[in-house]
Amino acid sequence: ILDASFTPMWMETSGCGVVIVFHDLTAIRRLEQLRKDFVANVSHELKTPITSIRGFSETLLDGAHQDPEICREFLQIILDESIRLQRLISDLLDLSRIESKRVNIIKKSVSIQSLVHSVVKTLEDQIRNKEMELTIQISSDFQVQVDPDSFQQILINLLTNAINYTGVGGKISLMAVDRKEEWKLQIKDTGIGIPKEDLPRIFERFYRVDKARARASGGTGLGLAIVKHLVEIHDGKIQVDSEVGKGTNFTLTFPHQSNLTSEVTK
Ligand code: ADP
Repeated sequence: ILDASFTPMWMETSGCGVVIVFHDLTAIRRLEQLRKDFVANVSHELKTPITSIRGFSETLLDGAHQDPEICREFLQIILDESIRLQRLISDLLDLSRIESKRVNIIKKSVSIQSLVHSVVKTLEDQIRNKEMELTIQISSDFQVQVDPDSFQQILINLLTNAINYTGVGGKISLMAVDRKEEWKLQIKDTGIGIPKEDLPRIFERFYRVDKARARASGGTGLGLAIVKHLVEIHDGKIQVDSEVGKGTNFTLTFPHQSNLTSEVTK
């Protein structure tokens, strides 16, 4: 029985029988559609800040700069949009490097404690500004075999989301557990949560549950796509549970590598 999506591409008869070659055109078309959607999304994401930068610069040049208050306000918008553009380009370059396997992964044995603390240090101001409570629970310090830069990026992206999608005074907890053959990391927040129907799609590039809210929080829509690739590069798995209005919980599981050489390039 043949699926309707399979189309015969080539048919040949010979003395002993018939050979028919089928290609799954649906899969090819789906890939092509994904590629087109990606280009359309990138163009749109780049166009929005550029339009804003251009508009506000022109208004300033047309005379708005004479009012110091308006001048300051417009310059702040131009600066914010430039930062957004820079973040977007940097995330796009990271994603493209990771997807085309041009990223240099050098695994090292590092302490989970120092890895977590170095990341938390960079986010301290954001946590304090939102009066949030961050709890770190690490059973007892243990060594993990990771590429430190990539791993810090995983933690930064997940913790930044936890901060962005949780209200003032909310709670975030980070837990690391060492098991015999694997180790787990859990990042939990008491934020807005993600509706069930959106959960399967949040790791897609540019997928956002609430576009306006995500934009206001300064996100690029690429953070979780980057996280998923980096987790897979570490042979790990990422899972998400969430309840709207209650919070979100990301669980990452990684195997312990028994025959570790000092540096592994993947
Ligand atoms: P963004 O830059 O928009 O945050 P991400 O790829 O990091 O992009 O996340 C995709 C979407 O998943 C977000 O826009 C948001 O809707 C949702 N999301 C991610 N993390 C959380 C979280 N901790 N709580 C609630 N929603 C989240």
